[in-house]
Amino acid sequence: MTMTEEALLAQLVEGQPPPAGRFGEYGGRFAPETLMSILERLEEGVVALMGDDGFRAELDSELSDFVGRPTPLTHAPALSDSWGAEVYLKREDLCHTGAHKINNGIGQALVARRLGAERIVAETGAGQHGVATAAASARVGLPCTVYMGAIDAERQAPNVERMRLLGAELILVTTGDQTLRSAIDEAFRAWVADPVGTYYLLGSAVGPHPYPWLVRELQSVIGKEARRQIMESAGGLPDVAVACVGGGSNSIGLFRGFVGDPSVELLGIEAGGSDGLHSATLVHGTNGVLHGAMTPLLQDDHGQVLETHSLAPGLDYPGVGPEHALLRDLGRARYEAVSDDEALAAVHECSSSEGILPALESAHALAGARRWAREHPGGRVLVGVSGRGDKDLQLIKGAHSG
Ligand SMILES: *Cc1c(COP(=O)(O)O)cnc(C)c1O
Repeated sequence: MTMTEEALLAQLVEGQPPPAGRFGEYGGRFAPETLMSILERLEEGVVALMGDDGFRAELDSELSDFVGRPTPLTHAPALSDSWGAEVYLKREDLCHTGAHKINNGIGQALVARRLGAERIVAETGAGQHGVATAAASARVGLPCTVYMGAIDAERQAPNVERMRLLGAELILVTTGDQTLRSAIDEAFRAWVADPVGTYYLLGSAVGPHPYPWLVRELQSVIGKEARRQIMESAGGLPDVAVACVGGGSNSIGLFRGFVGDPSVELLGIEAGGSDGLHSATLVHGTNGVLHGAMTPLLQDDHGQVLETHSLAPGLDYPGVGPEHALLRDLGRARYEAVSDDEALAAVHECSSSEGILPALESAHALAGARRWAREHPGGRVLVGVSGRGDKDLQLIKGAHSG
């Protein structure tokens, strides 16, 4: 490693907000002039709040009483046998609303209330972030508007109902591609129109500074708990920590617990998709600007964002969080892709042998962990189970009949 690389890694381990919002050459703040001063004020606000004992106490209390933390670390005897490894599962599937997204949702909703916002806006693709945001907004007593592409809304009808029941106003976006990308455009527009009264609640460790840092800090509870729990139950650190990577929030939260332990390998698993279509940004992407940040992304030679695919709705995103890109370049984390079929097989294996039905997203991490275990017999494997699979029953059934 060069001296610059060593300094960058030391910075990541330390965990302060990155200087100028840059993770090496990644991240930053690429936004219209009207948003720059808003993002600067937001940065000031969140840096102060995250260092404020009163706010941390409020956040901790909501994480325990509303979200249900700490989530368990479950030893998986059947997977251990079958993989020839020692397997532990970090159970974010047991969080309120069924996935890790609520850690970020409630954290930012509390930030919004503290910063004096009058309403929360968010976009959602598959609807999981919309559900978490709607629940968190109701909890803190702020009205919530969720933008969702009309096509996505049709595909994810149960989540549309959930959001409405949780009190959110749902706006169906019928412009552009009518999926996540146009929903993001519309949510941004609503924010720019009323930047003072509106809090924009971003769902993953992506976007302009300070969001990647803020979301990582809010999800770092996963890694901190897991580190303490595995030391207690296994008597030592894992050899590898594995998590799936969509935008990169559950993985960066898990990795946070171990980035300062050089003996722990960090392995992120992206969506390898099927038939040549995928969402494996860190494995195949090239650098460009997307949603306010410099990041690896899936684009053609003219900078047009490519069509992506994953059977797992939460992994179907053409960009990725900037901190992952730096971890990759520094050699501190490694990223691989797992196909739709491998993920489906992992859903079945984990469900029938452990009695735990993982989300299709999380099944990517399980499949990646299994591959790792085969190459490292006897190793100790920590897998982030980011969510539960009840939401995916239709997709799982469809994949088998199709
Ligand atoms: C949204 C989602 C993901 C992907 O998002 P990240 O920001 O990469 O964590 C993974 N798993 C589940 C269950 C999700 O809902």
